Amino acid sequence: MAKYFFACLSFLSVQAVAQQYYITADRVFDGESIHENWAVVVQGDKIIAVGPKEKITAPINSVKINYPNSTLLPGLIEGHSHLLLHPYNETPWDDQVMKESDAYRMARATVHAKNTLLAGFTTVRDLGSEGAGYADVELKKAINDGIIIGPRMMVAGKAIVATGSYGPKGYDTDVIVMKGAEEADGDNLIKVTRDQIGHGADVVKVYADYRWGKYNEAMPTFSIDELKLIVATAKSSGRWVIAHATTEEGMRRATLAGVETIEHGDEGTPEIFKLMKEKNVALCPTLAAGDATSQYKGWKKGIDPEPEKIKKKKESFKAALQSGVTILAGGDVGVFAHGDNVRELELMSEYGMQTLEVLRSTTSINAKAFHLDNQIGFVKEGLKADLIIVSGDPSKNISDLRKIKLVMKDGVIIRQ
Ligand SMILES: [Zn+2]
Repeated sequence: MAKYFFACLSFLSVQAVAQQYYITADRVFDGESIHENWAVVVQGDKIIAVGPKEKITAPINSVKINYPNSTLLPGLIEGHSHLLLHPYNETPWDDQVMKESDAYRMARATVHAKNTLLAGFTTVRDLGSEGAGYADVELKKAINDGIIIGPRMMVAGKAIVATGSYGPKGYDTDVIVMKGAEEADGDNLIKVTRDQIGHGADVVKVYADYRWGKYNEAMPTFSIDELKLIVATAKSSGRWVIAHATTEEGMRRATLAGVETIEHGDEGTPEIFKLMKEKNVALCPTLAAGDATSQYKGWKKGIDPEPEKIKKKKESFKAALQSGVTILAGGDVGVFAHGDNVRELELMSEYGMQTLEVLRSTTSINAKAFHLDNQIGFVKEGLKADLIIVSGDPSKNISDLRKIKLVMKDGVIIRQ
């Protein structure tokens, strides 16, 4: 009896103290800079201590983790994903929207979520279900409920497009073709914004321009007043608005209307980036999307000369870097394979951004832009224990982010 009681007590004491980890690494990137020979203590779902190894003692009973020649970083943050999409060279976007059922797409999305997390991306800002309704809201719920594994998600739901501007299009008018986002205009934008928020959108996405010009070129859609209406409506609920914009005028209108981030920004000029900086609007350049679609169209990278589209993107990215506008890391993943998110970071480095800056973008800078810096994006006492360990030094070679040794989300080891 006494023995039994004792066994129970020790069981209780183990349960009372949350799991502790004492993690050491050759380098710790804390979201801002690199520190050598640091240690991190995790308890439960939180980071409880960080600093030089000699100053941080390992708690008794903590599990010790160390990999040789390793770098520990905050869990990476994907700034622009579509977990409900899969690569367009597998199935064109039109067919995914119109021929794949939401149920089928959701089944795929559960695998995409897992692959994203295993690649070290512990958070995603998922910017539109592209015709799958609020499946992104449900996917997020399934992850939060612990039914499937996946990154913490910030979702946009259906997203808003101007009537007549978005696809799929080009079908006989006798056929009612569903759209990849919700159409709305004028005063109706208030209702649609509220409805999307009511269905679980964390952030409202609007298409400030789209390829609906006479020659299928990108042209602005909403007026500044319409965009302002969306921003004001979202703001009163504590949400913010982000805009798809590739044209100079679309970017200008979105910036003046008060959106927080601009996605793509392909035709951004030094003047536009300057205006964005003044208005505190960040750029999410999605370099990997253009890199992927150009290759789907037949460009043999490294063999063929660079397509005009890529040359121009490199130029505008350089202008963005020089302007000092805040640059986020988000690849529009879904256009290319989930789990290959590092591709965007490699391109940012290839197109001229310092590797340390790239690391900041995908951690602390994304976290701040998404209003999540009180939870994630840094290796800091009190924050969520979303951590990854890679071998090598990604501050020198960004591709070392692919050499994942450990992924921890909310203090739980997902991959080791
Ligand atoms: Zn996108």
